[in-house]
Amino acid sequence: AYTETQIEQMKKDDMRYFLHPTSSIFDMESWGGPKIIEEGNGIRVKSVEGEIYIDCGAGLWLNNVGYGRTELAEVAKKQMEKLFYFQTFNGYSHPLAIEMAKKVAEMIPMDNPRIFFTSGGSESNDTAFKLARMYWYLQGKPNKNHIIARTKAYHGVSYGALSATSLPGFWDGFRPLVPAFQHIEHPHCYFCPWGKEQGSCNLECAEALEEKILELGQDNVAAFTAEPVIGTGGAIVPPKGYYQRIREICDKYDVLFIADEVITGFGRTGKMFGMLHWGVKPDIMMMAKGITSGYIPMGAVGISERVFTLIRNHGIFMHGYTYSAHPVACAVALKNIEIIERENLVANAHEKGKLLRSLIRDLDLPCIGEVRGLGLMNAVQLVQDTETRTMFNSALGIAKRVSAIAWENGLALRPLIDDGLQLSPPLIITEADIIELVDKLGRSIEQAQ
Ligand code: PLP
Repeated sequence: AYTETQIEQMKKDDMRYFLHPTSSIFDMESWGGPKIIEEGNGIRVKSVEGEIYIDCGAGLWLNNVGYGRTELAEVAKKQMEKLFYFQTFNGYSHPLAIEMAKKVAEMIPMDNPRIFFTSGGSESNDTAFKLARMYWYLQGKPNKNHIIARTKAYHGVSYGALSATSLPGFWDGFRPLVPAFQHIEHPHCYFCPWGKEQGSCNLECAEALEEKILELGQDNVAAFTAEPVIGTGGAIVPPKGYYQRIREICDKYDVLFIADEVITGFGRTGKMFGMLHWGVKPDIMMMAKGITSGYIPMGAVGISERVFTLIRNHGIFMHGYTYSAHPVACAVALKNIEIIERENLVANAHEKGKLLRSLIRDLDLPCIGEVRGLGLMNAVQLVQDTETRTMFNSALGIAKRVSAIAWENGLALRPLIDDGLQLSPPLIITEADIIELVDKLGRSIEQAQ
């Protein structure tokens, strides 16, 4: 345990030396420093002050198996001692990279895929975009280079991934972006941009892809990329039929379909991969986060036979990261996937997600507009008026206030843009935990109004 003086010094040192990713420095100053977490167990974390919080966000949507898994620490230690690293460039390999590639290839909903390894989601996205462009380049179609993404997408922050991302603030100061990226409106029935009601529309959100391809010219479009369920943009689930129609449009215009399963992969949505909800196979798939439950950085890209064949005939993919297929990451990932399978965490995500959404709806609070999600990838939409679905005035205002109060009530709860609250706990969550979480959430929302 730390003394009050030590904690104060730590906060000062943090503010003095540490530039945080995507954190308001003004907010941190007003709190007198960051919230410092030092321990985790199951779905809970402990601050340096000794307070316990339910982790409503699974870290950053990544912790599927929960905190404190000694099994994962043990395999990491063993692998570090045996062979902490060797390159997989230049024709080298190691047994766990081979085992991991085989494991992932056999799990993902793709035809006869090959697996490329990265250290995280942004790298997986850049890899996927480069593969898509190379695929057309190798067919003598270098102009087929536009990649279409969607508003509210989050694909990461490296330049390629950032150019696909479309959330407020992320582009400010970083333009020009990679010009090949284009965006169409994302699907969200509750706030349908076409003013339609779910079930009585013509999937205008999917047709928007066809319009964009025609606008750019099919000979100029390489790929369409989407998160199966939009994550950071608000846990937004598309309407029935959306991805089937997207796949048809991609096939009609010879455009690759790329699925960013960085959050949805490895069980979070109540199926092992998000696209399994729609039975649609992507040509390229990005993974990260849940692949190791975040115990160690790792990402992967699934490459369908269609795309791989071109690379294979060309003979080389001139792309790679020093840490691609890091042996320790492979060891942790294999054990993590074993735990997800052994403990039926995918089924638990499905069941507990349903319970979570239903208990939040039962709170029947006047400012809860929509409770949405799949499995344990959920958001609560706060609105000023549920009849007209009018949002509160200030972006982040109410959700930020709820989060601040929730912290006092024992929840580490993150506001999402446009008055959303992220509810994506580790997949090991129990019924009793859900009841406690919803009770604390309800009280926090009431106190914030
Ligand atoms: N893609 C999606 C869908 C994500 O949610 C994220 C991160 O939240 C990324 C990509 C970027 O991953 P990373 O932060 O590991 O680079």
